[in-house]
Amino acid sequence: MFKISNNNLFLRNGSKIAIIGGGPAGSFFAHFASRYAEEMGIDVSIKIFDIKSFCQRGPRGCNMCAGVISENLFNKLEEEEINIAQYCVQRKIECYYFQMQADGVLLHHPVSGHTPRIVTVFRGNGPVKSLHEGNISFDDFLLNHVKERGVEIVSEVVKELSLPAKKGDSVKVIYGSGDSRNEFNADLVVGAFGVNTGMMEKVGKMGFGYKPPKTVRTCQCEIMLSPEYIEKTFGNNVFVFALAKEKLKFASITPKADYVTVSLVGKTDLTRNNLIDFLNHPTVRKLMPEDWEIPKSFCMCISKIPVTYAKHPYTDRIVILGDASISRSYKSGMESAFNMAKLSAYTAFNHGVSGRAFMNGYFKPAKRLLARDNLYGIIMLKINDYLSSQKQIANTNIKIIKSGKDKKTAEQINEILWNMLTGNRPYKEILYMAMNPRLVLKMLPINTFAWARQKKDDVSAWFKRN
Ligand SMILES: Cc1cc2nc3c(=O)[nH]c(=O)nc-3n(C[C@H](O)[C@H](O)[C@H](O)COP(=O)(O)OP(=O)(O)OC[C@H]3O[C@@H](n4cnc5c(N)ncnc54)[C@H](O)[C@@H]3O)c2cc1C
Repeated sequence: MFKISNNNLFLRNGSKIAIIGGGPAGSFFAHFASRYAEEMGIDVSIKIFDIKSFCQRGPRGCNMCAGVISENLFNKLEEEEINIAQYCVQRKIECYYFQMQADGVLLHHPVSGHTPRIVTVFRGNGPVKSLHEGNISFDDFLLNHVKERGVEIVSEVVKELSLPAKKGDSVKVIYGSGDSRNEFNADLVVGAFGVNTGMMEKVGKMGFGYKPPKTVRTCQCEIMLSPEYIEKTFGNNVFVFALAKEKLKFASITPKADYVTVSLVGKTDLTRNNLIDFLNHPTVRKLMPEDWEIPKSFCMCISKIPVTYAKHPYTDRIVILGDASISRSYKSGMESAFNMAKLSAYTAFNHGVSGRAFMNGYFKPAKRLLARDNLYGIIMLKINDYLSSQKQIANTNIKIIKSGKDKKTAEQINEILWNMLTGNRPYKEILYMAMNPRLVLKMLPINTFAWARQKKDDVSAWFKRN
């Protein structure tokens, strides 16, 4: 165990915690902070600052994501007695449909007979023109949960932070709307402000070493369809597309009750044009009603996703978590926020709020858990990109799953793809599954043959073109 030098840097009765951001990272931290304070018998005051009102419809009231609650997160929430309210649940997901260039395949949970506990939600109060009553926002549900645990929600924006002149003193949080500048002295400041805010750059300039993660701009939209049409065409399945489009890393269509959420993540920044391009792709058009046209105006957002992790997201009395710090690449961001909130809150209550405590208790384990695994993720995503860009290889693998002739191999490929798409297992484990000697021996000759066919096709196509 590590040692903490400054006895002043501990939470005690009367300590004040300021959380900047009421997204999942902020709410989960508040949940764990109130739980650990209760367990330790200390009385702390916790405030979450967020100007966003999750009662609003459209991007203004939304933290912009596909809204898939992974099975791991679902189970962890249940363990914490956070039972997602039924009014938030848009759809219970059973399978993933993986659509490659020419063909697609339905992937199921690797444990036969197990119904996955994956649900879809809206982060905000639904798309701009949605017709439901009441508030269905998942982020609002989480805020209400922590409110019930005594956390105060302050509907104001945090403008800046000011480090103490004397080591060990509290951090000044400056907040307020318009020109107002209110001050709050906090014994701990939690930066859960995500990556779609100028706060990252402001904290980066504070001089304690924080460097925000690199990000790319993603593109999303909500498409209204009748519940009957969604049920018939998409069912309880998330559709993931690997269409070998150069700019796209992946694309997905997530079914909700009377909407589908289209999410595109690119290798570089995406724009509305990429979205239109995707919606016009013949494979995607086939999934839409026959007379469907891209609406002139629809609920759409460009939001950022982190592609690296932050440097030094901590100092005395400040810890940064969620997307603004470190998370799993391209998968289950809300689950990463949960894990990191738990780790950092545990550290704050058990080992203190010094930079050193956060380095040893939070950031080093976080890097071991996520940063290393993300390197395996990069390898897996590159392999996946390559295989899905080679039509013949992609088709061969899909045929193996579909035909059911070689059940064992089909199950092995299904398990790899299922875990890649759902994020249910760490990337390292998925890579090891893909390196299984039986699978490699079986697939190497088949894929080599498919690769040769692909090259032959490429050469004939070249001759045709020239
Ligand atoms: C296209 C796309 C699809 C995704 N799909 C999924 C998915 O299906 N499942 C999943 O688990 N994850 C998904 N993610 C990732 C997920 O959205 C993030 O990992 C998650 O929202 C991170 O939570 P957070 O609390 O760190 O940040 P955020 O959710 O961004 O919350 C940050 C909050 O801080 C507030 N804030 C910012 N600055 C200030 C300030 N100065 N003062 C006060 N408040 C402030 C904001 O208003 C916001 O409410 C997706 C991401 C993208 C881009």
